[in-house]
Amino acid sequence: MKTLVIGAGAAGLAAAQDLQKANHQVVVLEAQHRVGGRIRTDRSFAAVPIELGAEFIHSSQVPTYPLPAQFGLRTHYFNQQEDTLVRLPDGSLRTIAQVGCQERGYNNIRMVDWPAASGEESLAEYLQRNQLSGQKIPYKLQEYISDFDNPRRLSAQAALEFLYDKSAEEGDFRILDGYD
Ligand SMILES: Cc1cc2nc3c(=O)[nH]c(=O)nc-3n(C[C@H](O)[C@H](O)[C@H](O)COP(=O)(O)OP(=O)(O)OC[C@H]3O[C@@H](n4cnc5c(N)ncnc54)[C@H](O)[C@@H]3O)c2cc1C
Repeated sequence: MKTLVIGAGAAGLAAAQDLQKANHQVVVLEAQHRVGGRIRTDRSFAAVPIELGAEFIHSSQVPTYPLPAQFGLRTHYFNQQEDTLVRLPDGSLRTIAQVGCQERGYNNIRMVDWPAASGEESLAEYLQRNQLSGQKIPYKLQEYISDFDNPRRLSAQAALEFLYDKSAEEGDFRILDGYD
């Protein structure tokens, strides 16, 4: 069978690989001059690969976790929430975990009782309804929005599940030779 896959991002390439294993004749069509989509590693200006898109394997619970071992790639473990410092407008440094909830006086983001999402509302509608904008948006949600998509197309319920996701506590893995 002949199959056309549109887009050579991670999803398209994984689909093409599975289809090929199932004996399909696959053609992948990509609009850009490179494969990878939102995965983009730059090696042009630094001694180490710089990630312009996806950077981490978020815990051992995600489908990408077995891939580095499978392809012989080196990883470095660290806890993004606790080990990464964010510089605030007043010049002070805080961990991501602290920034996520400090305006509410908590030191663990999962202790914050964020308002529940209603029905199928989008993340944009949720933020507007709860008057969350700018710095009031939890850092972890800002990260979620920048990683994934336009808040108008994201489910508020899925975003809240991400906010409370325990696997983030486990830490992250960076692929030392580049995510691409
Ligand atoms: C800044 C940033 C940081 C991130 N950090 C992480 C991280 O640390 N860990 C993690 O797991 N994820 C992270 N992500 C998310 C991750 O990069 C994406 O979830 C993943 O790469 C999406 O893959 P995809 O194949 O679904 O889509 P995309 O990567 O968007 O690929 C879609 C491809 O389809 C092509 N295309 C679209 N329309 C057409 C068309 N009509 N014809 C031909 N080609 C077309 C596009 O050019 C693109 O190459 C991050 C994303 C961003 C932007």
